[in-house]
Amino acid sequence: MKKVYKAHILFTKERDRFEVLENGYIAVDADGCVVGVSADLASLGDEPSEVVDFGDRLLIPAMNDLHVHASQYRNMGVAMDLELLPWLQNYTFPEEMKYADTAYAERMYRRFVRDLWRVGTMRACVFATIHTESTRLLMHLFQEAGMGALVGKVDMNRNCPDELKETVEEMVGGYEELIAEFSQPSTVNGRISTPLVRPIITPRFIPSCTPEMLRACGELAAKYGLPVQSHLSENKDEIAWVQALEPESSCYGDAYNRYGLFGQSPTVMAHCIYTQGEELELMKRNDVMVVHCPTSNLNLSSGIAPIRHFLDEGLRVGLGSDISGGHNLSIFRVLFDAIQVSKFLYQRNNTVAFLSLSEAFWLATKSAGSFFGKVGSFEPGYEFDALVIDDSELNHEQYTLLERMERYIYLGDDRQIVHRFCRGKEIMEPALSAQM
Ligand SMILES: [Zn+2]
Repeated sequence: MKKVYKAHILFTKERDRFEVLENGYIAVDADGCVVGVSADLASLGDEPSEVVDFGDRLLIPAMNDLHVHASQYRNMGVAMDLELLPWLQNYTFPEEMKYADTAYAERMYRRFVRDLWRVGTMRACVFATIHTESTRLLMHLFQEAGMGALVGKVDMNRNCPDELKETVEEMVGGYEELIAEFSQPSTVNGRISTPLVRPIITPRFIPSCTPEMLRACGELAAKYGLPVQSHLSENKDEIAWVQALEPESSCYGDAYNRYGLFGQSPTVMAHCIYTQGEELELMKRNDVMVVHCPTSNLNLSSGIAPIRHFLDEGLRVGLGSDISGGHNLSIFRVLFDAIQVSKFLYQRNNTVAFLSLSEAFWLATKSAGSFFGKVGSFEPGYEFDALVIDDSELNHEQYTLLERMERYIYLGDDRQIVHRFCRGKEIMEPALSAQM
């Protein structure tokens, strides 16, 4: 039975413009997929089981965060004077060690999932820690919430404190437990549906994994058909370090590639600030997706990724909050930062156009969503991941719908998000404790 939602509908089918339907209708089937979108209810076919009218509100695709460290959520907003490598040693690793304690992990992860919900992110690629038990717990919390997540048990066995090291066998064993528990597709109405919450192979980055561990990660991804996430070309010291550790590799990306971790299965790489030449060609050839994390890149003084250039080259790009290198969990804020840093590049070299609002919105929705399947648009066949925005407190009178969208992105926050949907289901606020 299909359900129809009525509101002012905005989404980006193409990156250079918004589709705008004033008082439009979206029909969603029982599997949570969009079957039609139109300004006219009659054109959507058979009588729906229910029409939900959101009145003068905006209905837009939900946000997707392609790079976020759940285990660093508590560290948001500290140590912003440090660059990547000292920041990892002095703040990140000590915090991640605490996740050996599942009671601590539960407190922090419940807050993380609740807040991701709050800011309107319905799908995320998440880094947990090396700990299997607390990673399992985080995956259960996403399942309980009904939100989509690819969750990585972070792999490390060198250049980090002993408490964050594990053997290759322990890494493989931990993953296999999570794979057994979370990778089974379910059948909904006779249709095979991929689980909303799944593991993703997550070598932290080349410096924290020995060749044996990297090889084992590549083998796991191939054996179980799992996606891969990691960090790439974020910082110049990091790139020099990778070159010293992997002298046979022609570039940082090639170091992953040699272990089967660079597009052999669907792969997202965060940052890519200094990606060029052979690395860029390899990403294109292997369809490795760039995760642009402008907020984090500013905070850690890492640099500015040339996103316009990547788009012109045909690379796939999404956005990431990169908590806690980034200090804001909202992808709306990251989207806005992506526009601002692109304007800085434009000022420095005005042969390269800055990102427009529709392009940045498209990066956060349809482009990023493609990593999860058909997610991030309202075209027929897409999973209905959506937000309902009540911008009446933002003085919206007499603005066009496009201007209202722009003003929400620049001026709004989670207080204006009044409904959230993931794969067709309305998602209610996740509980902060098991008793609630
Ligand atoms: Zn990161």
